[in-house]
Amino acid sequence: MRIFDPHIHMSSRTTDDYERMRAAGVAAVVEPSFWLGQPRTSAATFLDYFDSLLGWEPYRAAQYGIAHHCALALNPKEANDPRCTPVLAELPRYLDKDNVVAVGEVGYDSLTPAEDTALATQLELAARHGLPALVHTPHRDKAAGLERTLAMLAESELAPERVVLDHLNETTVERAADSGCWMAFSVYPDTKMDERRTVAVLRRFGLDRMLVNSAADWGRSDPLKTRRVADAMLDAGFTEDDVDRVLWRNPVAFFAQSGRLDLDGRPQPESYEGNSILRGTPAEPAGR
Ligand SMILES: [Zn+2]
Repeated sequence: MRIFDPHIHMSSRTTDDYERMRAAGVAAVVEPSFWLGQPRTSAATFLDYFDSLLGWEPYRAAQYGIAHHCALALNPKEANDPRCTPVLAELPRYLDKDNVVAVGEVGYDSLTPAEDTALATQLELAARHGLPALVHTPHRDKAAGLERTLAMLAESELAPERVVLDHLNETTVERAADSGCWMAFSVYPDTKMDERRTVAVLRRFGLDRMLVNSAADWGRSDPLKTRRVADAMLDAGFTEDDVDRVLWRNPVAFFAQSGRLDLDGRPQPESYEGNSILRGTPAEPAGR
């Protein structure tokens, strides 16, 4: 089974996770930029983070045979912090980099005017750089948040097929399907969608434009949720080809719109700027 997790925050995860993901079939990921769980204090710290998503994290992933791409953006939550918004002026030069396959995650958190501005600006950047956009839908007041998102998308130059609406559930999927955008479901251990509910949505709405992700991060989450959905699909009578479509071909088709998806894995150096993921020299085999 081959799996592409189109939304996972690997910088927050360990090498054990990479190892378990690869063993479960995960061969490719997209890591969208997001907030750190605590506020950033300046725009400059975004640049170190973006550099890490462009260099160090793909290097780490490659050690486990996983192709790593990223989506870059000012996240919805920090769009409200004037210490962070200057990063919007830095984004264009980052969006030109090879490993960037989307602008994201953008969208609404608390539906503020500052979030309007950041979203409109970044949708325009996506259009200008020929990139699709990964759009987060808010966790509170989901229906109103989706309506405002769709209104903003309608005003942008970005075609619906170049947009994925993320963190959908049963209350928002129908409206999202009508919009012509791609639809993504984040499967979490306690909140958002679980495997069973996700499979029920796929049964009802079909597999066209559907994506499934773990959205695993520094919070309680599970980087193997993509595999668990695949298994739940098979248990529910979907075929292996159906699973391959949702967990591989769909995300490949979506991010291939960037023209930058490279699933063979870019060659990685033996060490990254002199550093490796080895902590010290490996122990000598016994008996030498
Ligand atoms: Zn996320």
